[in-house]
Amino acid sequence: MFERTQIGKARESLDESLTIAGWVKRTRVLRNISFVILRDVSGEIQVTVKDDEMRKAVEDLGREDVIKVTGRTVSSEVANTGVEFIPDSIEVVNKAKQPLPFDLFGQVKTELDTRLNYRFMDFRTEHTSSIFKIQNVLLTAFRGFLTDRGYMEFQPPCVIASASEGGADLFMLPYFEKQAYLAQSPQLYKQMCAISFEKVYTITPIWRAEKFNTPTHLNEVRQMDIEQAFADDETVMKVLEEILVHMLVTVKEKCPNELEILGREIVVPELPFRHVTYTESIEMLQDAGEEIAWGDDFSKPQERKLTELVGKEAFFIKDWPSVQKAFYAMPYEENPDVVHAFDCIYSGIEISSGTMRIHLPELLREQLRKKGLNPDNFTHYIESFAYGAPPHAGWSIGLERLTMTVTGMTNIRECSMFPRDRDRLVP
Ligand code: ATP
Ligand code: MG
Repeated sequence: MFERTQIGKARESLDESLTIAGWVKRTRVLRNISFVILRDVSGEIQVTVKDDEMRKAVEDLGREDVIKVTGRTVSSEVANTGVEFIPDSIEVVNKAKQPLPFDLFGQVKTELDTRLNYRFMDFRTEHTSSIFKIQNVLLTAFRGFLTDRGYMEFQPPCVIASASEGGADLFMLPYFEKQAYLAQSPQLYKQMCAISFEKVYTITPIWRAEKFNTPTHLNEVRQMDIEQAFADDETVMKVLEEILVHMLVTVKEKCPNELEILGREIVVPELPFRHVTYTESIEMLQDAGEEIAWGDDFSKPQERKLTELVGKEAFFIKDWPSVQKAFYAMPYEENPDVVHAFDCIYSGIEISSGTMRIHLPELLREQLRKKGLNPDNFTHYIESFAYGAPPHAGWSIGLERLTMTVTGMTNIRECSMFPRDRDRLVP
């Protein structure tokens, strides 16, 4: 392959002979001079062509053709970026089929569905590339924070033999002579890792087979989870608030241009986050005239309403009724109808849930029975806590949900490179 300098770097390297390469954003052919706006992932530059033969070549260029240009950067009083590129040669590397499936840089916004159908091209727009550059920073900030604090990354299996949360909303899959499922959560595996490695994390896909039809749910999600031994819910809530602030600060620092393109201003919440109990939350909503009773889950509009009432960009709802949380959530000794569980609400929506887990086999059996589940179907799970399991706790952040709040998108499909919802399985 040929050596080339990225356009972002070439813009700063004046009067050196360089080769740049990228995609033709547009061309303009005037009487004596032609222009090519050339783009790569690092930015754009105006290629100014005066030579007649090269001007002929420019006339044949179409949008999204890939070309290679050798020449040099000079300062310019007229070009937007303050520099232009004067070519010695232009070579077509690969032509793009015309017309393009949609107008990448048009005035009219293309429908999300069309953009998703041609996602490979949609990634080239400033809007979409900004979202995924921000998502990448969220991921690296997440990994960096946990690695620095001694957490070990682990990889759970995605094909599993039975429901980890006890629910029914699983995708089934034939597995030789058996029936298998796509994991709805890495729950059991993160617990098994934590009771040996103590502090672990994973970034893993999970699948939920609910027939969602909302702007906030997908059927395939990436979850960013931690699990920690010798910890209770309060311990991991601290980790969660700190990592969230760390991720937001890092995005603010590293992605000012991307945030500007998306018209998003990040408000970094103050530490520590406010803790509101589930019961207080229900009362606040009831006082504000909402139809909700103790034991109900909050709807998405109620999460927004509660955010207004609490008046914080981020906060925790803790001490949930046992009926709303999975069987493995640790009940309060003095009031077993309430469990050591929490949700973190950021920017008006749930981005994370967590619990202190039950590490006592007998209590697990009891909770399963209370939920109408048969402990015999969970023998393997329960057994893993029979040989020296310390108390432990953990949480899960949805990557796409978090990206949505950070970028200010209203549809979660914008924040998954290749979203899977009820209708979409391609690309
Ligand atoms: P919600 O109440 O928002 O439907 P949940 O409580 O069912 O979510 P959890 O099991 O708590 O979800 O999963 C942990 C996190 O994973 C959630 O806080 C959310 O950020 C994300 N998440 C869960 N389910 C989905 C989904 N279907 N689509 C997108 N993100 C999801
Ligand atoms: Mg939840």
